[in-house]
Amino acid sequence: MIVRMIAKPTSPSLLGTTQDELLAMFAEWGETAYRAKQVVEWVYRRRVTSFDEMTNLSLDLRTRLAEQFSLRTTTVSSVTGSHDTTRKYLLRLHDGRFVETVLIPASPALYGDRADRRTLCVSSQVGCAYDCKFCASGLAGFTRNLTVAEIIEQVVQVEAHCGERVDNIVFMGMGEPLANYSNLSKALEILNAHWGIGIGARHMTVSTSGLAPQIKKLAELPLQIRLAISLHGATDDVRDKIMPVNRKYPLVELFEALDHWTSLRKQRITFEYILIEGVNDGLDQARVLASRAHRLDALVNLIPYNTVDGLEWKRPSESLQDAFKDVLVKAGVMTTLRREKGHDIAAACGQLRLKQETELGIIESAIPGKRITIGV
Ligand code: SAH
Repeated sequence: MIVRMIAKPTSPSLLGTTQDELLAMFAEWGETAYRAKQVVEWVYRRRVTSFDEMTNLSLDLRTRLAEQFSLRTTTVSSVTGSHDTTRKYLLRLHDGRFVETVLIPASPALYGDRADRRTLCVSSQVGCAYDCKFCASGLAGFTRNLTVAEIIEQVVQVEAHCGERVDNIVFMGMGEPLANYSNLSKALEILNAHWGIGIGARHMTVSTSGLAPQIKKLAELPLQIRLAISLHGATDDVRDKIMPVNRKYPLVELFEALDHWTSLRKQRITFEYILIEGVNDGLDQARVLASRAHRLDALVNLIPYNTVDGLEWKRPSESLQDAFKDVLVKAGVMTTLRREKGHDIAAACGQLRLKQETELGIIESAIPGKRITIGV
């Protein structure tokens, strides 16, 4: 007899469970550690989507698992982009919300030495509470944190869909990863674990708008992950205008946390700096940025601003972008300027989800009187 054992997607997903948690649960159930490890193998290695595929487990055990757990809580709702370019996946969550995850094949100069890698830009929250003035993700405010399973499933769904392995992960999608700290840290453990997704810690980057206390906490994690800081302003007056988080954690506190990070870690920090015309693109900012980066031996990624419908910000001219970069390079700071095509859909993360949720009437149009469209 074939029993359909596809559990309700609202049950907790086994994809968010660690091997230790399963071992403990199986011990309580009177099952062996060997059985627990078989389940881990089915979940993370073989990536089965129904419990009846777990053919080396008894029917009783499969039924018990199926009653309490699911194996997927998300579905792929749409994919934009083509095979050779950046592909943007819109995932539908069990509560009808949407998140975006972006696959960047052969990532051009995201991190120089990794040009041959497939990078996945994952989301950590639905919406964002930090209200950076230039960003689409925060336009409709904050809805909720993603669960551990919803973070892991972004990788699993994309790998299943494209038939390729992801080998580099950046938490640069929607949301502020450090505001979802406990789910983030558990997801990092599962993404890295040899029994889990198996991605090297050095190939995972957490990007933050600058939550100083959580940066210090993250520094204590026993994983050599990379840290990227969305700086976007080299002085408090500029940063205050575009990133409200700076009023809570001004640069002096942020840099104290970064000093703590660098005292514990070998990996260099990356500063992300979006160039926005007339806002933060002055060469005075470039000089202060250069000295800050130099002191921490940090890398700088300059990103010409990607326009977001409904927001007035623009990118500066290419000559100004080059002049800004020159200041950093002359100061001896390793700097990249990402200008390539296709990055538009990656950096403007949040817009596709806004469009979808607005159309379905889940949220009001984020900008009164204006429809959100995707600039791709
Ligand atoms: N909250 C985290 C991660 C999400 S944002 C953080 O702030 O780092 C990922 C990156 O995309 C950030 O550096 C963010 O500032 C940048 N970004 C947001 N909107 C953008 C836009 N319109 N053009 C270019 N980069 C943008």
